[in-house]
Amino acid sequence: MTSSTRQRITVLGATGSIGKSTLDVIERHPERYRVHALTAHTSKETLLEQCLTHRPDVAVLDAAADAAWLEAELARAGLATTVTYGVEALCAVARDARVDTVMAAIVGAAGLLPALAAAEAGKRILLANKEALVMSGALFMEAVERSGATLLPIDSEHNAIYQCLPPRHRGGLDRHGVRKLLLTASGGPFRQWDAQEIAVATPEQACAHPNWSMGRKISVDSATLMNKGLELIEACWLFDAAPEQIQVVVHPQSVIHSMAAYSDGSVIAQLGNPDMRTPIAYGLAWPERIDSGVETLDLFQIARLDFEAPDEARFPCLRLAREAMQRGGSAPAVLNAANEVAVEAFLSGELAFGAIAQVVADVMALPCEHRADTIEEILAADRWAREQAQSLLESEHAADVTSAKE
Ligand code: NAD
Ligand code: MG
Repeated sequence: MTSSTRQRITVLGATGSIGKSTLDVIERHPERYRVHALTAHTSKETLLEQCLTHRPDVAVLDAAADAAWLEAELARAGLATTVTYGVEALCAVARDARVDTVMAAIVGAAGLLPALAAAEAGKRILLANKEALVMSGALFMEAVERSGATLLPIDSEHNAIYQCLPPRHRGGLDRHGVRKLLLTASGGPFRQWDAQEIAVATPEQACAHPNWSMGRKISVDSATLMNKGLELIEACWLFDAAPEQIQVVVHPQSVIHSMAAYSDGSVIAQLGNPDMRTPIAYGLAWPERIDSGVETLDLFQIARLDFEAPDEARFPCLRLAREAMQRGGSAPAVLNAANEVAVEAFLSGELAFGAIAQVVADVMALPCEHRADTIEEILAADRWAREQAQSLLESEHAADVTSAKE
């Protein structure tokens, strides 16, 4: 590939766990990839370092003052990088006509508008930001369809399923002879803990994932199994599956990243070391394959693979997510927003771990008048659910707040 045909890439959420792994893979293949834009929320020092290495045309931060600081630092180093700020600037680097590929790796609902902008602009989208799809599944998939965008899942499970399904698998699993999808879950750090211990787990314990090193929000989601719930919803949209066609399988070694079960009895699995650079490299190079820096799996060292059913009594978030998908409309956006508020409260020591699921369940039990037919309605449902969760935190869960602080 010559330099003129190098893929031009925007990395949304460049300073996060997925963003850094993406830049690691890109750096291994300078003849294939060129960074157009890097974005971060507030981590301006990390973004500065990344800009010095990757020399993007544009960098984006959240606040004007941070952007001014970064632009001055880059100018001092002799770089003409334009530094912009705010949500509209994120959308602009996602839809820029010069950009081929957008890595959507912002965490949470904040990533929705820029990911959607990439979908509407027909980009190759490497989707890590599962919350965007959970919130706006129907609209997002329609935008991809309409614009002819290529949507490649980066979440390791969905990337695995993508690899296990035939090419052009849209249109329902039945049409392709697929009976069900087997979505694997590590079980998180509390897989073997009893309910009383789980109820009072600390942020440090929740973020100590046994197999994966990830951002704090997804680490907590992995500990509650909400991550698997969000992934179930994500899989329904990506693969045109009904929630009943997806079976969650706890597999503590995280070596099988997920599977597709066919009507002839075949089960096809994708295996690998638990390192996000594998799905990221898959997305970057698709339909080709490139080196990701990940070692080949050593099966003798792994020696065994275990499987068990998830325990929805200890981990109710999985059931809540399935119910939200079955209910449809804005319910998944409401679930996601309530969860984001509860997880943030937990991480800042204001809510007990065991109360996260309760806050989500309580918000989902309230009558929500917002639909999900337009992006404005989805954002309104998101705002409404955040307000409800916040007021629950301030009233009913005050007892849990106290116990978390003790
Ligand atoms: P992280 O917290 O490490 O990084 C988040 C990135 O988003 C950072 O660059 C941060 O600056 C940016 N960001 C945060 N809030 C923002 C806001 N309000 N506006 C703009 N930018 C903002 O998160 P992560 O672990 O890299 O996860 C990113 C996404 O990928 C999540 O949706 C997560 O569910 C998904 N994902 C992550 C992994 C993993 O291994 N880390 C695996 C699968 C899926
Ligand atoms: Mg995953």
